Amino acid sequence: MQKNFLPLLLFYISISVYSQNSNFTILCIAAHPDDEDGATLAYYSRIKGFDAYTIFYTRGEGGQNEIGPELYDELGKIRERECYDAAEIQGSKVYFLGFLDLGYSKTAKETFKFWGGEDSVLARIVYIIRVIRPDVVITNHDTITTKPKRQHGHHQVSGITIYNAFEKAADPNYHPEQLVNGVEPWKIKKLYFRQNDTNVNDVFEIDVSQKDKSGKTIEEIYYDALAKHKTQGMDKVDRNYTGKRRYELIRSDKTYPVSRNDLFEGIAPTEKPKINVELKSYPTRYTYYKINPEDSLRILNSLKFRKGIKIGLVRTYDNSVENVLKAFQIDFDTLSDYDLNEKPLYTYSTIILDIRAYFYRPELIKNNHKILNYIADSGSVVCFYHKPSDWNGRNFAPYPIYLTNQRVTEEGALVKQQKNTLYIWSEPNIINHMDWDGWIQERNIYLPSDDTSLTSRHYSRLLSMQDENDPVPSTSLMIAGYEKGTYVYCSLALYRQLKLFHEGALKLFLNMISLSRWFRY
Ligand SMILES: [Zn+2]
Repeated sequence: MQKNFLPLLLFYISISVYSQNSNFTILCIAAHPDDEDGATLAYYSRIKGFDAYTIFYTRGEGGQNEIGPELYDELGKIRERECYDAAEIQGSKVYFLGFLDLGYSKTAKETFKFWGGEDSVLARIVYIIRVIRPDVVITNHDTITTKPKRQHGHHQVSGITIYNAFEKAADPNYHPEQLVNGVEPWKIKKLYFRQNDTNVNDVFEIDVSQKDKSGKTIEEIYYDALAKHKTQGMDKVDRNYTGKRRYELIRSDKTYPVSRNDLFEGIAPTEKPKINVELKSYPTRYTYYKINPEDSLRILNSLKFRKGIKIGLVRTYDNSVENVLKAFQIDFDTLSDYDLNEKPLYTYSTIILDIRAYFYRPELIKNNHKILNYIADSGSVVCFYHKPSDWNGRNFAPYPIYLTNQRVTEEGALVKQQKNTLYIWSEPNIINHMDWDGWIQERNIYLPSDDTSLTSRHYSRLLSMQDENDPVPSTSLMIAGYEKGTYVYCSLALYRQLKLFHEGALKLFLNMISLSRWFRY
């Protein structure tokens, strides 16, 4: 297994600043695709005829793909396309700063480290501001870096740098080498933070129930654009029309008269001199993960699974599990909705419920009594991670499990295997501390609560790990006997490792599916 850093050149999207067709410009700052406020952008673009832009710090390639197996660089390319499609509907233009999305980050410190330090991030955003010359900047990201209000580390960094860029873009001594070809220091007039806290009174409100020329309301346009972010499941969100977007003024170049429904109130149009610069999105220099064929062959020949197992797989959008079963030539069936309704399950030694199966396979919910009966009757179920909203309050597992949003994002976090008598660390593959090396992106996600009034004490907690200074429950792998059968709940980010044929992850996977009491050991 090796991890190569390959620079991958993407299309350069060039936007000529000559295309500016109005005297006013609004810019939205977003850490990831879908963090933009498409409604406010559409309002100023579609109704007021202003120039509207979004700058994305990343292409969102570190996220979870809700519709397909693509991850990492492939996912980044799809999400870039989704942003352009959304922008077309909103009437905005899009730039990418090209910073790597290495998955969920808890701190600004960690994100700055991966992105080359605070000044390299700030210099990049300042340059684009000096070229685009926005009058008004809006963002969802604030600068809070401490619990309980802190956001994703990428959001923290986007907030911190745009707040600083407000001063620095106007400072001729800040990165003066940028000031060529007509690029000059630029003073943003107003910087707004989108306020979701309804207790804050001093806010501007944009009325998005207004209609544009096509007869659609701004909010409808917003939802149409949002629905383009399919890899984030945004085509499935409820269209809860609210009619307002609320913004709090954070910085301004001077005092403006107060009006509560226009972010541009009091800003005079400025004659913007031409700039002879072609602004381009920064390509993302993706971390490119590669499977070494010699390693794969050795792994295929050396790892074991229990002979005679037969797997029933309830698939969702990912294909990692299926690919591993095929690679090892393990006997398996992919269970269709028809199978879930009609087929007896006792022919399987193990049933795998893949990631978010209860969300993506409604027939599974309908037939969950069959799953529970199957376990009781000596079957074995391995259930991969779900989101709290897919799961809580539904009693899908034999004993209660309550999911949280806690996770361990440091992929190298020290892992402790708890001793137990179920041979999961030894049958048929021996798993030791080295098998936890070389994981990518994260250890686990949406961990079950450790509170035994929420997650039953019937489950043995098999693993413990945590990010630095951030204890989380030891629930990423849990197992319980239920009548004659066995139930495993696994919220490890195993699929990310299986996709890359990680030896340790494969051992654990093969041991889990070999665990069945079917074999009466
Ligand atoms: Zn985000």
